[in-house]
Amino acid sequence: MHVDVPAKVQEIYAEVLRRNPGEAEFHQAVREVLESLAVVLGRHSEYAEMKTIERICEPERQIIFRVPWQDDHGQVQINRGFRVEFNSALGPYKGGLRFHPSVNLGIVKFLGFEQIFKNALTGMPIGGGKGGSDFDPKNRSDAEVMRFCQSFMTELYRHLGEYTDVPAGDIGVGAREIGYLFGQYKRITNRYESGVITGKGLGWGGALVRREATGYGAAFFADAMMHARGESFEGRRVVISGSGNVAVYGIEKVHELGGVVVACSDSSGYVVDEKGIDLEILKQVKETERGRISEYADRVASAHYISQGSIWDVPCEVAMPSATQNELDGRDARTLARNGCQYVVEGANMPATPDAVSLFRASGIGFAPGKAANAGGVATSALEMQQNASRDRWSFEQSEAKLEEIMRGIHARCHETAEEYGSPGDLVLGANVAGFLQVAEAVHAHGLI
Ligand code: GLU
Repeated sequence: MHVDVPAKVQEIYAEVLRRNPGEAEFHQAVREVLESLAVVLGRHSEYAEMKTIERICEPERQIIFRVPWQDDHGQVQINRGFRVEFNSALGPYKGGLRFHPSVNLGIVKFLGFEQIFKNALTGMPIGGGKGGSDFDPKNRSDAEVMRFCQSFMTELYRHLGEYTDVPAGDIGVGAREIGYLFGQYKRITNRYESGVITGKGLGWGGALVRREATGYGAAFFADAMMHARGESFEGRRVVISGSGNVAVYGIEKVHELGGVVVACSDSSGYVVDEKGIDLEILKQVKETERGRISEYADRVASAHYISQGSIWDVPCEVAMPSATQNELDGRDARTLARNGCQYVVEGANMPATPDAVSLFRASGIGFAPGKAANAGGVATSALEMQQNASRDRWSFEQSEAKLEEIMRGIHARCHETAEEYGSPGDLVLGANVAGFLQVAEAVHAHGLI
């Protein structure tokens, strides 16, 4: 069968648009992958014949459910829950749960789609899925969060299992929420099935380094990119947006690797601290007190808080967007380039808009897409599953060494694949092609399902 490749890719994308109206983030994520796949179809006509790409763009199962719960005033609240089980060619569905008011089906599908390729890149036996709810945990009491999690799990539990679907955290879902979710799963099923959820507490089946893994992993990935150009973090000015789990542990590892992180943010603004972010104070404000980033500036004399504008106005050599999707646009990308930024490493999922990514790729700025650079979190979740399955527990050093090996391995694979497919240095193409090939081969082997 002769295949006109660019036309074929256009056709697949048009069909995705038609079948999934109004899901802008999902369209964006699919488009970004499809743009890299023309070179693959050119070499693998079997994937065109068997509609492998079309099948990967269609989730295997999508679950949407009502989550009723009662707040502290006795008022009834209703949220919507989602779990998109996108692809199980490589293992049980694996991916986090996001609790944020912006969550809708399109957001969950974009995240689930990215997760397929990210998980493939880790080399671990995990498929791709994602879930969440439009519930906003901000300003909710622990008791409210618990009641919400219990109601959410009362529906979701029937879809989960250590060999079926294994959620974890994401924005708005941390150790507290994972605890409530696991407790309710255990209560309903009467099974202590540790491997059904990851990001658990260290005393009850959790794995060392899971909390740190996404941020540490992104820093290791950045370090590998720099080494490929004969450079390092030593003495470099770094800006990391966000102040959640990814950002906090990204800052920790960048500092250990010799860089200086001078700014971080939350949804209301950002802080600049020319002396380098004081991690102990940041952790106190964000982790212990669940406070706002402005409080960091209240406590640190060398810091100031800016509530307007963009954190990307702060000059830096390395930018690590680690807050949320589409937080860094074309204007920000131009500012970064003008200020001499040399590396952009995505700690969050799809934080750079397509305009921004094009600009980075065209101007020779080293750009690492999230599905490669932030894979350390889910990779360490797979290590947690491994420890649960063997009822084992690894040391911090052992786990961190494994994470570092995985991240350097992902970088090498993306780098080599980009070369092999005629775009040396293009880690977007390398990540998309390497991730896709791994999934496509398994999908193809499993027959028409
Ligand atoms: N939510 C994280 C991610 O975006 C982690 C998922 C997991 O550990 O399963 O990859």
